[in-house]
Amino acid sequence: MNVPEMFGSMVFNDRVMREMLPKKVYQSLQNTMVEGKALDEDVADIVAAAMKEWAVSKGATHFTHWFQPMTGITAEKHDSFLTVGNDGCVMMDFSGKELTKGEPDASSFPSGGLRATFEARGYTAWDPTSYAFIKDDTLCIPTAFCSYTGQILDKKTPLLRSMDAISREAVRILALFGKHVRRVNATIGAEQEYFLIDKNDYSRRLDLRLTGRTLIGAPAAKGQEMEDHYFGSIRPRVKAFMADLDEELWKLGITAKTEHNEVAPCQHEMAPIFDNANKATDANQLTMEMMKKVAERHGFACLLHEKPFEGINGSGKHNNWALSTDEGENLLDPGKTPEDNAQFLLFLTAIIKAVDEYQDLLRISVASAGNDHRLGANEAPPAIVSIFVGDELEAVIESIIEDKPFRGKASSSHIDIGTSVLPKLSRDNSDRNRTSPFAFTGNKFEFRMPGSSFNIACTNVMLNTAVSDALKDFCDELEGAGDFNAALNTLIKRELEQHRRILFNGNGYSREWEEEAGKRGLQNYRRTPDALVHYCDEKNVRLFMRHGIYTREEMESRLEISLDEYRKAIHIEAVTMMEMLRRQIIPSALRFSSSLASAVQAKEAIGLTANAEKTLCAKVGRLCDELLSRTDELGECVDASPEDTREAAIHAADRIIPAMEAARKLSDSLETITDRSFWPIPTYSEILFYV
Ligand code: ADP
Ligand code: MG
Repeated sequence: MNVPEMFGSMVFNDRVMREMLPKKVYQSLQNTMVEGKALDEDVADIVAAAMKEWAVSKGATHFTHWFQPMTGITAEKHDSFLTVGNDGCVMMDFSGKELTKGEPDASSFPSGGLRATFEARGYTAWDPTSYAFIKDDTLCIPTAFCSYTGQILDKKTPLLRSMDAISREAVRILALFGKHVRRVNATIGAEQEYFLIDKNDYSRRLDLRLTGRTLIGAPAAKGQEMEDHYFGSIRPRVKAFMADLDEELWKLGITAKTEHNEVAPCQHEMAPIFDNANKATDANQLTMEMMKKVAERHGFACLLHEKPFEGINGSGKHNNWALSTDEGENLLDPGKTPEDNAQFLLFLTAIIKAVDEYQDLLRISVASAGNDHRLGANEAPPAIVSIFVGDELEAVIESIIEDKPFRGKASSSHIDIGTSVLPKLSRDNSDRNRTSPFAFTGNKFEFRMPGSSFNIACTNVMLNTAVSDALKDFCDELEGAGDFNAALNTLIKRELEQHRRILFNGNGYSREWEEEAGKRGLQNYRRTPDALVHYCDEKNVRLFMRHGIYTREEMESRLEISLDEYRKAIHIEAVTMMEMLRRQIIPSALRFSSSLASAVQAKEAIGLTANAEKTLCAKVGRLCDELLSRTDELGECVDASPEDTREAAIHAADRIIPAMEAARKLSDSLETITDRSFWPIPTYSEILFYV
């Protein structure tokens, strides 16, 4: 296999553009891409023609605007290139207009009240900063999705806006240090966790098919306690899947790099090489889609839910984030000279300030029914946002705040931002804490709260915007300063002091931290609705409006969509669970108990005792009685859901989830005493320890 040749072979990337476009057109497109500016209209026709020629040569027959509506998955509507000319001849055609703008019927996508169904029209607009690619013989054009009146209906547009905002402010900061760059990009590497289980087991579980997770199921005798799966040798069948997945991703220009087993049985991870935020977001969406498709081919089902199985780890998505200039300088790299250090410390301070001031937004960006099972459950960071910077950097920060000598490895000296050189930070030190939600890992931050099924756009919109805001404040202050170094010193010291409470180097999974965080006044929104209701707090609305990311209406619509998504997810889970209990579990257990009753009769008829059968039959009977009434109670809870979205979301968290948990307990007890041949669905031990 020739990997370099295969890599990106299905992508209309820079190499192809350089080859196929006239020099001037290429240059103009390049400017658009580097500076994030709108595309020249006459350029579009030429680009479209080249794109079509390339796509057809690769066997494509259709094209689609590929976009990321609020559903969290990607959407596409295929049109063929086919047109009929004046002479009646069939031709393959693709115009600049078709490339740059599409008009899908938008009425069936969530809009949170922004667009009534009668105003069905929405449009998609090409995002030339993300490459077009071919998937399933279709040329896919990454696009942003708006309503006809220009309100945004997708996850991509705010991401692009937030990238512009952070670029604008970071470029200003760099100018203060005498560096003049055109663009600063947020870079992302998203590590993706997932489960692979046998397709047959998956098909036989209604809960997995409808909700992505098991709603009932007693634990297997073995879980992850032996720690024998993490980085363990990979089953040949899984290995074949991974090889196939790599190949599919490479063709799409996705830099799949690392594949390994994760902590839980059947759990795995794929990490790509980082890229600009918008490309990384597209790549992650495609990765999730490909994982599901390739799994199918290998007789697997790929589970991307945050908590497919109770009692073992769920799946997350680590969002590695940094800032990079168009000249390739990573702004989160501490650097070697005093000027670089000062610049690094300023960016670091901005991030600390941003995360502290907008803890709620980061928490909201990872809030979902699925992720509620992970956060704070001893396998993932708690619902409290805090930052880990490592001992050395923490000591640096402390010495700045307290104006005390820094006692580093090498020497003890004052940290004077204008003159001193930071100690070389060891990466090991900063990578040790796996329990922190937001950890500095040497030259980037790793945000570990996102759920495995998430579109990472949302998290990065929050992060980019909050950091932009801090950078903007800093620029406003420093640009007017007489003595730059003195002003810089004062600012960094003041801001670090003010936001120090967000720094935490200890064990994020511990109880004590929850208490300590409470004392520090950090937020702790345990459940999705508790967090979501703060989305439209005035400070947040102002933040997004200030940087031109969202209007107030757009934010209100997003809140409505998120609350609605949560209540619907819980509703579907509850109804699925009731169906399984009423039509599969209880009837099966009753058949088991009647087989026991028949045995009692038969044995007693020939003068034998049947004590075991009687005891077991009575136990099963009692559990069935109770399970039946708990199922009915769950039904009543579901029926009592309020109309109002916000109230319904809170009702789901307060009432429906506890009712589901109560029913699950009984069903799981029943499972442990029911003859396997009567149990109607695959069990945890069968699913997780398949051969
Ligand atoms: P680890 O395996 O210890 O988590 P890695 O160095 O392997 O750390 O990186 C994990 C992820 O972080 C990878 O996806 C990698 O591409 C990404 N990454 C590395 N550098 C950056 C950066 N500057 N910006 C964004 N992501 C990055
Ligand atoms: Mg990592």
